[in-house]
Amino acid sequence: MMIDEETNIILAIDTALHSFLERRRHVYANIQVTDLCYCLRRAYFNKTMPNTNNDTDIRLVVGILLHDTILNQLAELLHGVTECLTVYVHPLNNDEFLTIYGMCDLLTDNYVLELKTCNYPPNTPLNSHVMQLNAYLAMFEREYGYLVYVSRNDIKKRIFRIDFNEELWNKTVDRAITLYNCLKHNQPPEPEKSGLCNLCPFKPYC
Ligand code: SF4
Repeated sequence: MMIDEETNIILAIDTALHSFLERRRHVYANIQVTDLCYCLRRAYFNKTMPNTNNDTDIRLVVGILLHDTILNQLAELLHGVTECLTVYVHPLNNDEFLTIYGMCDLLTDNYVLELKTCNYPPNTPLNSHVMQLNAYLAMFEREYGYLVYVSRNDIKKRIFRIDFNEELWNKTVDRAITLYNCLKHNQPPEPEKSGLCNLCPFKPYC
């Protein structure tokens, strides 16, 4: 049966959105900072069952495009570099090494900036975002950074300055060691229940 032209156009749009998100959803085998700031069990499943999340969420596409547009302009105006990648190496007891990869949004001579697009900017910074930025402060050796929230609805902005917290960084490294051992022994970490569970593609496994 011939597929009509309108169906072809709709299929082409769906394919474009799906492939855009697929490129952005790349799952790294190595441990990333972002793996450590949410549920470790979800990070584990993301690495061991990477094809589970195939939804094409248009809000995600809009968020990514807005994020990239603002970030490129910020880099130019604030004389920073976007998407800087670095790696932190932590020796373990058994002659092995734990490596944590981190890619910050914007790195300047003085600070790290993380940009978050959201529906409504929060009144206080989210703990997961603080942990993420704090890890970049450790890895890029900066004393402070900024969490910048921009609303997808009305471009409302909220900015929080975050100072480096060594205790939080140590906790982040401990979480990385937990995830490393779970991946090594094929043992999923314990569930970390939160409001994010409702959107989690691995909910049936918890
Ligand atoms: S459903 Fe909740 S606890 Fe389970 S993996 Fe997802 S985020 Fe973690």
